[in-house]
Amino acid sequence: MKFEGIPGVELKPIETLETKENDGNFFRVEFVKKIKEVYQEGDLDRLDEFKKMTEHSDNILEHIIKKRFNKDDWRSMFLRLIRYAKNGNPNSMNEFVSVLKDYAIEADRLYLKAKKEVKVYRKEFIAEAKALLNNLGNYDIKKVEHIVNNIQVDFYVPILDSTYKGSYSNNHSIDLSIDSALYPSELRSILFHELLHSLSPDFERVFDIGEDSGFKEGISQQITGLSMSGLDVDRFVWLNEAVTESLAVEMAYGSSGGPAGYVKNIDLLGLFLKKKKLDSNLNFDLIAKTYFRYLKKRDDTDETPVDEWRNFSKEFDKAFGPRFLVKLDRFIEKEGIEKALEVVGKWKVGRPMLEDLTI
Ligand SMILES: [Zn+2]
Repeated sequence: MKFEGIPGVELKPIETLETKENDGNFFRVEFVKKIKEVYQEGDLDRLDEFKKMTEHSDNILEHIIKKRFNKDDWRSMFLRLIRYAKNGNPNSMNEFVSVLKDYAIEADRLYLKAKKEVKVYRKEFIAEAKALLNNLGNYDIKKVEHIVNNIQVDFYVPILDSTYKGSYSNNHSIDLSIDSALYPSELRSILFHELLHSLSPDFERVFDIGEDSGFKEGISQQITGLSMSGLDVDRFVWLNEAVTESLAVEMAYGSSGGPAGYVKNIDLLGLFLKKKKLDSNLNFDLIAKTYFRYLKKRDDTDETPVDEWRNFSKEFDKAFGPRFLVKLDRFIEKEGIEKALEVVGKWKVGRPMLEDLTI
């Protein structure tokens, strides 16, 4: 595997949403739970509870019908379910239960399939990570194996939120959305993406990245790969996701490419690598090394992971000007990533126009 610029893979956009805190997703998770309870325990009183839940979520139900169910069998199944839930006609009770059974059977089928596949993909990820890290330098492969083998993977069958693909949480667990539409290849690359997050440090440490950064010296920040959160502000999330997804796509599909999330993030990073000042050492290799800095084997004389971050940050400054990453972050926060793409796209190679990103 070679890192020269952004890996030259072809990207086919998929929507990706990693948060679990939006209403749609909360509702989806609750919905699956309720359906399973109703089906497994046969307790029809719970149907009223379910009905109440759907009454509060008309907009979400509309969303399902319009956007989610493009497969005829599933669409009609859920239309029946929704019709029942909204009208609560007692005569459709049997129909409702039969829909739940159909759903539960399908959900179980997908769950068992995904569980088997994740077992295989986990091994494949370790092999790919080994190859990648051996190519980058001297990294702790045992630590990689330990982290990846111990991570807990849970599954949800998506119903309401088709954009939810997976999430990594700092208690060393991953949630994967399983959906027949995601098979066969996406589940693998989404798992790879989340496993890459798990290889990033996720503990707190004191880290000063400058008085203008939104962080204060002496305050603990949580670090995930290239992103940091602390106080009220998250920093460099766009960059962390761009790098995570670039690596995941490269590891999952090789240079032939495949479905990718965070395509705009990846495009933006690609633009920066192209338009940087010509004497800068900034490249994807350096970025990948910084990303994996907590896995590096070090002796006492080596620089620390924090030194490595500082050097990386300095290279960004050399390529684009002082405090560039923070300025860019603020710009993206305010104007959005599309606007950043538009502005940076107009820069001449080797001549970044920093004032364009001033807000
Ligand atoms: Zn991610």
